[in-house]
Amino acid sequence: MNLFPLFVDLARRPVLVVGGGEVAARKVAALLAAGADVTVGAPALTPQLARLAADRRIHHLDGPYAERWLDGSWLVVAATADRATNEAVASDAAHRRLFANVVDDAGLSTFHVPAIVDRSPVIVAISSGGSAPMLARRLRERLETLLDPDLGALATLLERFRTRIRTRLPAPAARRHWYDALFDSPLMAFLRARQPALAEAALEASLHAPTAPAEGRVALVGAGPGDPGLLTLKALRALNQADVILHDRLVSAEVLALARRDAEFIEVGKRGGGHSTSQDAIHQLMLEQARAGRRVVRLKGGDPFVFGRGGEELEFLRSHGVPYEVVPGITAALACAAYAGVPLTHRDHAQSVRFVTAHCRDSFDALDWRALAQERQTLAIYMGVAGLERLRARLLAHGRAATTPFALVENGSRASQRVVTGTLGQLPQTANAHKVGSPALLILGEVAALAETLHWYGAPPLVALRELSIPHAA
Ligand code: SAH
Repeated sequence: MNLFPLFVDLARRPVLVVGGGEVAARKVAALLAAGADVTVGAPALTPQLARLAADRRIHHLDGPYAERWLDGSWLVVAATADRATNEAVASDAAHRRLFANVVDDAGLSTFHVPAIVDRSPVIVAISSGGSAPMLARRLRERLETLLDPDLGALATLLERFRTRIRTRLPAPAARRHWYDALFDSPLMAFLRARQPALAEAALEASLHAPTAPAEGRVALVGAGPGDPGLLTLKALRALNQADVILHDRLVSAEVLALARRDAEFIEVGKRGGGHSTSQDAIHQLMLEQARAGRRVVRLKGGDPFVFGRGGEELEFLRSHGVPYEVVPGITAALACAAYAGVPLTHRDHAQSVRFVTAHCRDSFDALDWRALAQERQTLAIYMGVAGLERLRARLLAHGRAATTPFALVENGSRASQRVVTGTLGQLPQTANAHKVGSPALLILGEVAALAETLHWYGAPPLVALRELSIPHAA
């Protein structure tokens, strides 16, 4: 180890920053956040630093650097653009046995400022010892996504209970086991759900019965359309904490690859309306797993509340007293539109958008076709390609023009994405000609034509011939 990591209490302690530019301003902001008593020495200040000085939030020493500026300081930061000044500060500081950081100069520095992930009071600091600051920054980004934002709230809560925990569990080993169980308990989920009273009650309960079995719970998680980059940070965390993951077949392999390796994966396949595991069986499975004390992730393609039967699953869990949380995902309509270059609404073409599902004959009959056939709105239709003929017939019968553009997006957001565009009059033929398969989302409305100019992802759209759609003006 070439550096000794250290967390320093700077509250009200004098710290000198030499330099008045942008870099100095960033250091000053960080030092002020830690409560330091900051003095900035420089012949000129950025407007931001000048304002801080005018508000007496920092002291300002005017003029060129002088050794006596170091008087009384606990630490010094040299942040000037002039190497000779930085060197003078570093050597004067060393003479006085003061720790000095020279910005972007590891050789002159006697302390380094790490990249941090701030979950105060928990702080993770990362240093590459000045060898590769980019690497440290990169690592910081990764940790940022992995660490629960509510870690700080947890630490604050544990701090308040600290004495009681020690009294209740005096033996260090017992205490360690208790903590381990606590981190896997619903406590974190309560903190995430902004239920501090429940979190505190869970903590109380586990103090009273420190060996009670862990309570299982279910997170209903949206996996998005396929591109793993469209997962939310919360989804990623849930996938990394899961004991068991019940996923639809629609969930992409790339998303599953981000889950905890040793989680158990159970495919409860459903695709395009085919029901291979019955909904009841899924309910039973969730219940069994949760009652066994496991953390269950019920992972669904897109968003769990958009044509995902998420509501039914929550009702079931609620009626059986199983705690749950919901993590939304990017639904197919939003993802397919974005990845096909189709704005779902547009000031000139569409003032509203409807998400419609039409997977089978029954759901077709239940739809309000007159409303769906209205102009200047976009339909995002979640369906199998088998029903396109029926769909066209109904929309035309209710007055939607045969020239209305569509974009059919197959495997939206995935490497295999294909977009086929054309007009309503030719919809089934066009889909057929290009052998569009599942999963595919149909976007119908004036905006769909924009795919031909605004596309950016993968191959350009396959454009159907439109000889029938544009009548010649007389
Ligand atoms: N809950 C999901 C929808 C489930 S219904 C969501 O919010 O996206 C299943 C239908 O979604 C499919 O028949 C298809 O129409 C659509 N779909 C899901 N993922 C898709 C994708 N990557 N590309 C195109 N369509 C998709």
